[in-house]
Amino acid sequence: MSGSSPAPILRLPLGFVNAWLARTDGGGFVLVDTGTPGDWARLTAGLAAAGCTKETLRLVVITHGDFDHVGCAKRLRSEWGVPVAAHRGDLGLMARGESPARRGATPLLRLLMRLLPQRKADPDAPGSPLFMPDLLLEEGQRLDAYGWDATVLHTPGHTAGGIAILTAQGDLLVGDTARGGARPGVGMLVQDADAYDATLARLSALPGAVAVHPGHGDSFPAARLPGRLPDAARPKRN
Ligand SMILES: [Zn+2]
Repeated sequence: MSGSSPAPILRLPLGFVNAWLARTDGGGFVLVDTGTPGDWARLTAGLAAAGCTKETLRLVVITHGDFDHVGCAKRLRSEWGVPVAAHRGDLGLMARGESPARRGATPLLRLLMRLLPQRKADPDAPGSPLFMPDLLLEEGQRLDAYGWDATVLHTPGHTAGGIAILTAQGDLLVGDTARGGARPGVGMLVQDADAYDATLARLSALPGAVAVHPGHGDSFPAARLPGRLPDAARPKRN
């Protein structure tokens, strides 16, 4: 493979959630998201199958602080010695297990949210996945230092500290800002509808984006990104 060929983004399916593995310059890798705490065996098997080792994994990037994306981050850091990077907007979720007020994107989800008990998190419990990132990512930050020709975009809405990564090849990793599949949609939960709308408007008009790689479901063409929240996801104003 020549040094100038596009770096493929590899999907590591972990049950209902995806992690994405990017091959970087110099034979390294960057992992985006880490599944739930129960996904360790599947995640490490996927990394091994891709030829990614402790020595070649340069960085773990977290798209947002939900448990199904940060689950194995702390363990990767302690057992593989890899730094973990995320946006400061989700520190409460990642470091302290705080659940900010969020509403379901559909009436059915809103009903389910009312019925589900709130998750109580204890950072000191044995095996707790709660952690403090080693590196805080900002809007516009470049990842060349890790061999990856890619840029961080701050994409609040699903959570306050959500990010997307846009690569030079046009791969757009969006976390739960969008959901994949035959009919791409938005994430299941909304923390801030106005911020979410602004994020969707920005991403759906983003120059250079070709393929979207979501936190759940299959990749899809960037032209199919939703441009705004569906009305059902919007709080009623009166
Ligand atoms: Zn998720």
